[in-house]
Amino acid sequence: MITNRVEDIIPMVMAHNPDQPEFLQAVTEVVGSIQPFLRQNPSYLKANILDRITEPDRVISFRVSWFDDEGDIQVNRGYRVQFNNAIGPYKGGLRFHPSVNVSILKFLGFEQIFKNALTGLPMGGGKGGANFDPKGKSDNEIMRFCQAFMNGLANFIGADVDVPAGDIGVGSREIGYLYGQYKKIRGPFEGVLTGKPLIFGGSQIRAEATGYGLIYFVVEMLKVRDDSLAGKSIAISGSGNVAQYAAEKAIELGGKVLTLSDSSGTIYDPAGIDAEKLAWVMELKNERRGRIREYAEHFDVEYYEGARPWQIGRYDIALPCATQNELDGEDAEALVENGTFLVAEGANMPSTPEAIKVFHKKKILYGLGKAANAGGVAVSGLEMSQNSMRLSWSREEVDRRLKNIMVDIHNQCVEYGTQGNYINYVDGANIAGFIKVADAMIAQGAV
Ligand code: NDP
Repeated sequence: MITNRVEDIIPMVMAHNPDQPEFLQAVTEVVGSIQPFLRQNPSYLKANILDRITEPDRVISFRVSWFDDEGDIQVNRGYRVQFNNAIGPYKGGLRFHPSVNVSILKFLGFEQIFKNALTGLPMGGGKGGANFDPKGKSDNEIMRFCQAFMNGLANFIGADVDVPAGDIGVGSREIGYLYGQYKKIRGPFEGVLTGKPLIFGGSQIRAEATGYGLIYFVVEMLKVRDDSLAGKSIAISGSGNVAQYAAEKAIELGGKVLTLSDSSGTIYDPAGIDAEKLAWVMELKNERRGRIREYAEHFDVEYYEGARPWQIGRYDIALPCATQNELDGEDAEALVENGTFLVAEGANMPSTPEAIKVFHKKKILYGLGKAANAGGVAVSGLEMSQNSMRLSWSREEVDRRLKNIMVDIHNQCVEYGTQGNYINYVDGANIAGFIKVADAMIAQGAV
């Protein structure tokens, strides 16, 4: 069906993907925000870009069978969604979490198309993962799972084809095991995964990139109102990769980080989480793989079982860095009521559509994930460049490039999203990303 009327695209995507709520949420957000632009530029409708861009190139699904420590065979389902490679090889993370399904991976892959375009680097959009729960698994079980997962994936990826990275449940340990198995199966020592440890092709700043990039983006948002991070109170959700490095950079720039969380609950530290306490959290989460509740016991602060940070205290800035749909309309109302004037997303799609409506209605600064958290994939792109050149850039060099990319993404949001005296970052990011990918698709013909 040719959908050259913009109103037709959402019903069509709904009809084609009836059981994929997260994917529909992501498509609705993008299509909703680029509608006026499309009406003014009907050539994109004529080329049927919306119909084409909402259908992945392919969705690969495979069985992952692995031995647990008791010698029993466990079975999980692995996936790779190769969404769009109009501007470069498919690129996007792997998520290991029991909630993983096609809808979640399609939403993430779809978002990734526009995010990657915003970085200015040649990367298409993809995402993958498995409905595997790494919690409580031994190191050997994690290794055997990663090897079995790569057995199913290896033939579909490659340095010029599709380059996965980490996401929830996949950090440098998992990337190491996946990389070892890829090499065993396929042979070449090539940059087929990013987020690798430094000793075999990883990039400086990759681990820090999403969190640091988020704070660089926040700094740009604050500059718009001649403000800075110094002295601002900050709520951060999550305590994984993105949350840890967002906290690190925010503390370095003088912010006061009051909260961290995990899927069990939230800690609130009124004195602020300083560099020393954060180092303790990193050891807790990355080495001992413990729960955030232990912070409350260790530092004698409040722990809120089952709660998210948004309604616990008063914050100038809120940075959701855990997972999708973790901040709803009620949370948004409470935040704004309590004086929050800036929300920027380290996670992908953490704010529900109702929450976004509140932010826009109240005209607070709202930086959506596909712009604000693009630092991770940007440094992944820089890791690909270094691997291709067989060179390693210094920490300063990568950090400088990351900062420039985040400033550039902010500029694109300002260019396409300024509406009177308000910057609508959602419209800005979606339009800027869409133009690049759609123009490439048109130039490459009806493929
Ligand atoms: P990690 O696995 O390192 O950390 C995830 C954190 O979020 C953990 O604290 C985890 O708690 C919490 N969390 C996960 N699922 C839920 C849930 N359903 N409810 C409440 N808390 C939850 O992942 P990352 O830090 O890498 O990723 C966090 C977010 O950032 C994701 O949305 C990801 O897509 C996004 N992102 C990540 C990038 C990266 O480079 N890593 C790049 C761009 C975006 P627990 O341990 O209890 O599960």
